[in-house]
Amino acid sequence: MEKPVTEAAVEMTIQNFVLPTRDRPIDFDGWLVGELDNGGGDRLRWAVLQLYRWQPADGGPLGYILYTIGHSVVYHVLDSACGKGVVTTVADIEDATPEAYEDLEPCPDCHPMELDDMDPDEEVEMEEVWYKLVQCRTDEDLLLALRKEAKCKNCFHRPHPEHRCSQVSSCACEDYQEAPRPISSPGARLLHLVRPRLPNLIETMNEQKVRL
Ligand SMILES: [Zn+2]
Ligand SMILES: [Zn+2]
Ligand SMILES: [Zn+2]
Repeated sequence: MEKPVTEAAVEMTIQNFVLPTRDRPIDFDGWLVGELDNGGGDRLRWAVLQLYRWQPADGGPLGYILYTIGHSVVYHVLDSACGKGVVTTVADIEDATPEAYEDLEPCPDCHPMELDDMDPDEEVEMEEVWYKLVQCRTDEDLLLALRKEAKCKNCFHRPHPEHRCSQVSSCACEDYQEAPRPISSPGARLLHLVRPRLPNLIETMNEQKVRL
């Protein structure tokens, strides 16, 4: 089968990527297909979704890596009720976050002082940047990864297929059925962006009747 021209052309530029994850960094070969900045207006917290084409090391067919970086530039008062960060001194705050020092912002709820007005050994709580990575072998896997989380159609809680729901004490739902899972809104925006570069994916989306 002939590869579509658009993809064959980029394939010439396969690169090695090393991306941070929750534990150790992932190392893979491929190329970046597209990136979506899903930022909110205040720019305190936002997510960047990146879609990579992935050449598995076992030589298997091209897959995808869907990579999300959850940015936050917010720091809090030590032991504040916000309870969202990791404890660090002002001097070491750049070890607690990959965000640039000059971008860091005091929490609008617990109101810590400006970093420059604090002593270097004073402690604050810095929110962590988070990473989420999904490896997808096929178009179908990718479309599934871009759907909203599975939940119960009857009680709207997380899946409880084998047992009675216990996520809130008042819920006694015994009848788990998966609710329909539409593509999430950032997922739809990402697909819209990368679609022109992925002719095979368009075909799979048409087969699955995925609408954006
Ligand atoms: Zn706070
Ligand atoms: Zn339920
Ligand atoms: Zn429930």
